[in-house]
Parts: sequence; structure tokens; C-alpha cells
Amino acid sequence: MKLTIHGGKDEIGGNKILVEHKGTKIFLDFGMSFKQTGMYFSEFLQPRKCAGLADFFELSILPDIQGIYREDYLKHMGRGKETRSVDGVFLSHAHADHAQHIHFLRNDIPIFCTDATKIILETLEETGIGTFSDFVTYCEAFAFYTNKKGELSRVTRKNKEYVCDREFNVMMPGKKVKIGSMEIEMIPVDHSLPGACGFIVYTDEGNLVYTGDIRFHGSHSELSRKFVEKAFSVKPKLLITEGTRINSTKKDSEDGVKKEISEFMSKAKGLVFVEHPVRDLDRLNSILIAANENKRELVVNTKLAYLIEKLGKLSPFSLVKVKIFVPRKSWGLIDKDVEQKLVEGDYETWERDYIYRKNCVTYREIQKHPDKYAVSMNLFNINQLVDINPSSDSIWIKSNCEPFCEEMELDEERKKNWLNHYGIKQHQAHASGHANGEELKEMWKDINAKEVVVVHRDG
Ligand SMILES: [Zn+2]
Ligand SMILES: [Zn+2]
Repeated sequence: MKLTIHGGKDEIGGNKILVEHKGTKIFLDFGMSFKQTGMYFSEFLQPRKCAGLADFFELSILPDIQGIYREDYLKHMGRGKETRSVDGVFLSHAHADHAQHIHFLRNDIPIFCTDATKIILETLEETGIGTFSDFVTYCEAFAFYTNKKGELSRVTRKNKEYVCDREFNVMMPGKKVKIGSMEIEMIPVDHSLPGACGFIVYTDEGNLVYTGDIRFHGSHSELSRKFVEKAFSVKPKLLITEGTRINSTKKDSEDGVKKEISEFMSKAKGLVFVEHPVRDLDRLNSILIAANENKRELVVNTKLAYLIEKLGKLSPFSLVKVKIFVPRKSWGLIDKDVEQKLVEGDYETWERDYIYRKNCVTYREIQKHPDKYAVSMNLFNINQLVDINPSSDSIWIKSNCEPFCEEMELDEERKKNWLNHYGIKQHQAHASGHANGEELKEMWKDINAKEVVVVHRDG
């Protein structure tokens, strides 16, 4: 068995781990390297699509490997046809640092993941996160079609015949997938995103265990413990483990966070805002429980509403348990006395279904009854405060991680300016998505692999 770590070795995330055995090749995760990308790019300076993969190869954001990248990009770069060289990509979860760069893969490389991971990727693709987001479907790039006038036009996603589904395979617990000389089993773990899992790769030369991102203090810590038991039982030769918080001794607890949030809310007289990891539905569930304990209703934005509804039973709570915040957008017609069809024009197509539901609220309702609501909010929609115009007895609960790069520090500063402007006090309550140093070492001991490789840690 041969292991090549193409990303995630001396950095937190960007995992791209190539496993080879008797001619069979698979990738464990194919994530975006935040470290390498952040060295050269920012929100306002992005890699160019027109260069295909050239910007990514030049700056070592993606490894230049034959036979794995999409043919439309390679052709556009003047590279000849390549034959597929990898048999499958296994995604541990849908966080960008593990899954984002599947956009660049050939569409005949099958992707394997949990049902929730597939749904989250679908949601990301449908609600738009930028240029490079062909996750579950694949739209041929740099192609022309002949339009009704008989002229050449550029292909877009509207030209359905140029859009196809990627081969996604949903894995079920307890069911191994056979690929060439390997068998791969998915085992759910606890992490800060629905659908996270680890993998066991079985070969006739010994077994490999991959943790993905893992923690033991979340709402589903029993999953991680079962993962460790199962991993031990297969007597692994090799353990590839995450090590994000290897140097941290801080003991976190999701249950503790829920209690802290509830306490902050119990003292709040005005409106409560809660900032949380965007798609961490376990955290949102903690916030929902805390809000209900304090006779408040949780208000989520339309993107979250869309995700919760798409996940269905895989979400820890249903959409009817929360309110949906309909923001003023584009022309802001939700505020005007005009017909529904015209108002809908202010919103994205996917969003239109979420603006006239029974459980929708706008800033007017929130303004009228600030003590009745806890509103999920992040910097990207903080401009809604101008409409809400919260009073200074409102509070902001920061329930996500501290900034760990310059860009995030600037964002945090910006957010604080908003809070200062309205005289809102900030409180903090957060638990990490990752196990701490002690828990990691205990896990390594319990799994008892012959060799341990630590990825997803600072170099
Ligand atoms: Zn990660
Ligand atoms: Zn993660």
C-alpha cells in the first residue's frame, strides 16, 4: 500500500490523500487548501477560470497529476487527452477544506460520501458559492452551442444538454464498497457538520483508518467512540488522523455551550443575535433549545431554511420549529404594497419558495417583539441591522471560532464596529469541531495502529 499526501500535511485542511494498492487508486478527500490559496488570493483577487487549472498548478494550490482533472479545463489549457488514473474519491464531509476542489475533477471519477454530505454539496451548488462549484453536477466549460439564429453562443447552465450529474455514490454504515483491490467502509463520526464520517480501507496487505475531522464532545460523541472501537477491531496497519488541536488542552463541550447560551439569553431584555458556524446544525439545534428554554423563537436565514428542508430527517430539527427571516434585497419590495410576483424578482429562484411561508418574519415583526426572538446572524448579513435597528439592550452571542487569519481579524473588527454602532454587547460561547490533544492521543492509543500519520495540523 502506498500513501501520498497531496494536501493537508502541514496545514489545517486541504486534505487530498492518495492511497494506492495493486493498481487501485483512491483519494481520501479532495479539499481546498486555505493556507496555499490564502497566500496568493483573497475575496477580491481570485484564481482565473480562463486559465483553466494553470493558476492552481503554478501556485501549488492543486497538484499537477495526470488523469484526474476535468477534460474541458485541460483542453482549454492546450493539454491533450488523458486517461482516468484514479478509481474514486471518498469525502469525509462537505467542509470546503475536504470537498471543495472536486469541482476540478473529471466527471467520470466516482465520488463516495454520506447522504448528508451529498445534500450539503447540492445545496452549496444550488444556492451559489462562486465560480468553481460544480459539485454534484458538471457543466461543460469553454463550450459553444449553435443558437436559434444559427450563431455560436457560449454554453451556460441553461443549456441542459451540457450539464450532467457527477457519479455520486451514497455510502451506508456497515456496507463496504469494493473498488479494485480495496474495500472501503464509511463510519459516521461526530464533527461540526452533518454527515461527517471516517473511513476504513481494507486491503490484503493490511488495513488503513482515516479519521476525517473528529471530536468527542459534540451532540453525537457516541458515534466517534463507536468509530474508535471499530477502527481498533480491524487491527489497522496505518492510522491517518487529524491533529487540528494537538497542542490544545482546552476541554470543550457542546452541552456546555448550550447552557451558556441559555444563560446569556435568560438575562437578555432586548433582541438576541447568535453568530455560529454557518452550516453546523448541531450548534443551531443547541441555540434552538436554548432559545425555546427562554421563550424565544429561533430565526434563521433563507439559506439555512433551504438546507434544513433539504436535509429532512437528517437535520436535528425540522423547519417548522423555527422562523424564516426574509431580508430586504435588491429593490426591497417585500416592504412595499406590490403583488407577490414582483416581490419575488428581488430573490434568487431557489429562495422564492421561502419568502411567503407561514413561519416567515421580516424586520418589522422582529422590531415589534425583540424579546420574542433569537436571530441567527453572521457578518455577511449584518447589514440587516439597519432595518431591524436593534436597541442597545440587545445582545450578540459569538458562538464560532476566534479569527485565525488576517482577513478574519479584519472581519471581526468590522463586526465589532457594527455592534458598537448599535451599542450591542458581545458574549462568547463556543466548542470546537475537533478533539483536543489529550483526546487525540487517547484515540491513537485506543485504535492501536502500527503507524500513525497526522494530517490537518499546523506545520
Ligand atoms: Zn477540516
Ligand atoms: Zn471539518
